[in-house]
Amino acid sequence: KPIIIIVIGMAGSGKTTLMHRLVAHVQESGKRGYVLNLDPAVTNLPYGANIDIRDTVKYKNVMKEYGLGPNGGILTSLNLFATKFDEVVGLVEKRAPELDYVLVDTPGQIEIFTWSASGAIITEAFASTFPTVVTYVVDTPRSTSPVTFMSNMLYACGILYKTRLPLMLAFNKTDITQHQFAVEWMEDFEKFQDAVESDKSYNANLSRSLCLVLDEFYQNLRKVGVSAISGAGMKEFFETVDACGQDYMQNYRVELEQRR
Ligand code: GDP
Ligand code: MG
Repeated sequence: KPIIIIVIGMAGSGKTTLMHRLVAHVQESGKRGYVLNLDPAVTNLPYGANIDIRDTVKYKNVMKEYGLGPNGGILTSLNLFATKFDEVVGLVEKRAPELDYVLVDTPGQIEIFTWSASGAIITEAFASTFPTVVTYVVDTPRSTSPVTFMSNMLYACGILYKTRLPLMLAFNKTDITQHQFAVEWMEDFEKFQDAVESDKSYNANLSRSLCLVLDEFYQNLRKVGVSAISGAGMKEFFETVDACGQDYMQNYRVELEQRR
């Protein structure tokens, strides 16, 4: 059975560019991939998708038809697509014996996928059929301040609790900024505290409490540094995906069945 990799992250974190790199790496390493684009509003898709939401719903038409703005148009398009998602899962199931990875790109704006019914339906549909891993893409150069770093981690934490799936962080754009600082902050919260101390704009009390909460969260989190542009970290990325796939089999599968 293939592992499903759902790529989530803030707008501009590099999801689509990373997808392109991942697809290329899967091909180069002789593995078999299947590629889904769930962003109805993307204009240039750098990779070839086996299933593209844009073939089914035209988000500009949806905007006109329902009198919506861009975000409403994207959300409604995703909702329309989600109603037929069992067909998509059916297509993937048919191909499953010959696949290693299924790569899933999501809309630019993270909320549209993570805080919508359709995002939950799509995630559940995959997770109840295949080992499924959520990759949370972090814009590393834009997370070097403790404030943005912590809000990013809180968001990732929310996704973990909502999806209850194995979650891995992909610190992207390491060609600009190495992710070493993030690893240090996650592994030793005193180092994070030191960074907060020198950031006068930040509420130190809040951060002290959150730090301890996140420490617990970090323990169960795998992380890897990548560059979608240079291709750095691809081997580690897929090793991490495979480890998360094992996690799914050992822990999540059982929990999913119990919940039914
Ligand atoms: P998405 O909204 O998350 O899908 O982000 P995109 O893939 O569209 O990328 C947003 C911007 O970040 C684009 O200008 C990309 O060229 C840039 N970008 C993505 N990945 C990398 C990377 O690894 N390194 C650098 N330097 N830029 C990147
Ligand atoms: Mg994108």
